[in-house]
Amino acid sequence: MSSAVDTFLSRFPKVLRSGGQAMVQCPSHEDKTASLGVTEGADGRVLLKCFAGCPTDAIVAAMGLSLSDLFDAPIPTSERRELASYDYLAADGTLVYQVVRFEPKDFRQRRPDGYRRRRLPGGRRQGDRRDLSFEETIVNMFTRKIL
Ligand SMILES: [Zn+2]
Repeated sequence: MSSAVDTFLSRFPKVLRSGGQAMVQCPSHEDKTASLGVTEGADGRVLLKCFAGCPTDAIVAAMGLSLSDLFDAPIPTSERRELASYDYLAADGTLVYQVVRFEPKDFRQRRPDGYRRRRLPGGRRQGDRRDLSFEETIVNMFTRKIL
């Protein structure tokens, strides 16, 4: 398990370390030396100090990150495990969408491509759960599966 600081530093090709501090090139200004100090706060968050004076939000924005990325070690996708998926089928057996449960706890909906805007007979839109008929609801109950 890597800390938020390690994850942050892994984005830089060159990291100079002295004592408890790491120095990298600041992505927010034209930095010829390594003038961005990176340390770990008491609560595990990443503390940034650009010696040229760049504000922290400008530094993370230049990296395509947000301030919240400095607080928690983001979970790499490889550590996210798919626990179960639930198929939602139309009455004709067409897969409308799946709800996927991940560990650490998270739910995502995914659809097969091309179904998003397709109209069903009767003008219903596929994937619209509120409009599922009674038969479709029964189908859903029986296709719920645990992987
Ligand atoms: Zn800077």
